[in-house]
Amino acid sequence: MDPIALTRRLVAIDTVNPPGRERECVRVLGRLLEDAGFAVTEHPYGEGRSSLVARLGDGDGPPLCLTGHLDVVPLGARPWTHDPFAGETADGRLYGRGSSDMKSGVAALVVAATRLAPRLRATAGLVLVLTADEEIGSRGAARLATIPGALGTAGAIVVAEPTGNEPLVGHKGALWLHARTTGVSAHGSMPERGVNAVVRAARAVLQMETFEFAVAPHPVLGRPTLNVGTFAGGLNFNSVPDAATVGVDIRTIPGQKNQAVLEQLGHHLGREVALETFVDVEGVWTDPDHPWMAEVFEVAAATTGWRREVRAAPYVTDASALTPAYGNVPTVILGPGELALAHQTDEWCRLDRIEQAVELYVEIGRRWCGL
Ligand SMILES: [Zn+2]
Repeated sequence: MDPIALTRRLVAIDTVNPPGRERECVRVLGRLLEDAGFAVTEHPYGEGRSSLVARLGDGDGPPLCLTGHLDVVPLGARPWTHDPFAGETADGRLYGRGSSDMKSGVAALVVAATRLAPRLRATAGLVLVLTADEEIGSRGAARLATIPGALGTAGAIVVAEPTGNEPLVGHKGALWLHARTTGVSAHGSMPERGVNAVVRAARAVLQMETFEFAVAPHPVLGRPTLNVGTFAGGLNFNSVPDAATVGVDIRTIPGQKNQAVLEQLGHHLGREVALETFVDVEGVWTDPDHPWMAEVFEVAAATTGWRREVRAAPYVTDASALTPAYGNVPTVILGPGELALAHQTDEWCRLDRIEQAVELYVEIGRRWCGL
């Protein structure tokens, strides 16, 4: 099976989220994995959508989890010079929405799994987790984690998000909130009769500026951050507004609990402000000296010439849901896509990196299963 042809096939299936419609991808990949001997379970996830879990190996010990998401982000406002769903190749690149983030990664995982399959029977084996609805706060993976027995067990996780085939050992968490204030509306000529929700919201924004996370910075990821991204309130010019909403994007560091940050911020802002969580995913971090991570580093160095440098991903991944669900097992983010091209117009992936990713996953899987 050719991973480039498979990437092109996946890119041709429109899984722009919303609405997602990942089911067709699940069907294509499920068939390939089933033919290779995997036990495949499809987990429905709304209209035209599903996630897939595939398992092969019944020997001792937990399997290695290989994971990727099937949805992609919208095309954006700028016109594409390459058809986003044709999977065109030119100059050693494969173009299309999801080529980097992350249908190339998913294709490479599935091809690696089918190559290892004939030898997996009596080993710890592999579990593939291919998810719907990642791009809006890992909701598909979070749903899988709530279905009893759906994920099974795993001893380590490879997340095939775009890293240019460099192993990354973690990422920040994300906590996106709507901070809402209410007031009492009145005629604009008599503001003293109302309570102005926009003024309350403005006060809240200024208080957010002085919010302290009270946590030591992470050695690689640095400090948590808070950004006010949106501000909305008021219906017309000559009324006292009775509602306002502020959009807040908080990035937490591994070890911080989002729930604790939420409570801390709520306390800081006081009773005038109601906080509503909209995306809630925790940070992920694996000690780079963990023996399995050291082994992944070794494989990367031997396969791609990578030179050891402990780095983290600038984005969040399904590991936020899967790593805790599997008992905080070591997790590497490692995939063929180009980190800088995720979500871009004319997104592309290098063809040689897709082949190389298959090699990486086969070798990591081979070592895990003692082959
Ligand atoms: Zn992604």
